[in-house]
Amino acid sequence: MSERKVLNKYYSPDFDPSKIPPMKLAKNHQYTVRLMAPFNMRCKTCGEYIYKGKKFNARKEDVEGSDYLGIRIYRFYIKCTRCLQEISFKTDPKNTDYEIEAGATMNFMALKLAEEQAKREEDEKNEEEASNPMKLLEKRTQQSKQGAGGS
Ligand SMILES: [Zn+2]
Repeated sequence: MSERKVLNKYYSPDFDPSKIPPMKLAKNHQYTVRLMAPFNMRCKTCGEYIYKGKKFNARKEDVEGSDYLGIRIYRFYIKCTRCLQEISFKTDPKNTDYEIEAGATMNFMALKLAEEQAKREEDEKNEEEASNPMKLLEKRTQQSKQGAGGS
């Protein structure tokens, strides 16, 4: 009797592997992958630069309900090498690029910000000179001295 029960259970349709586990659960499963940073970035928390090609153990997941022309979008999570702050980015198949989501800025952005700041400082300097005739005169004198080419 008990033997038959086991046998019945073995052949039970409940054990159809396609029915377990629920597909939804499997779909958003995160798994660990080894990857290289696909672009230069800078940690927002500690300012650490993370260079393209740096190797990470990352968690990877599908971005649910989001694809481009049927191409799946993946999200990756890595940790800053210095402060361990989590940084996340995802693939951007539309631009064949990556999009940073949290924890860091792409390095070209950091560069842009630095350039903008330099520009601002330059503007302020010019403004100061424009509003200060003495300083402007000083500068002109210097320039004309240099222009004269010395004796
Ligand atoms: Zn950091």
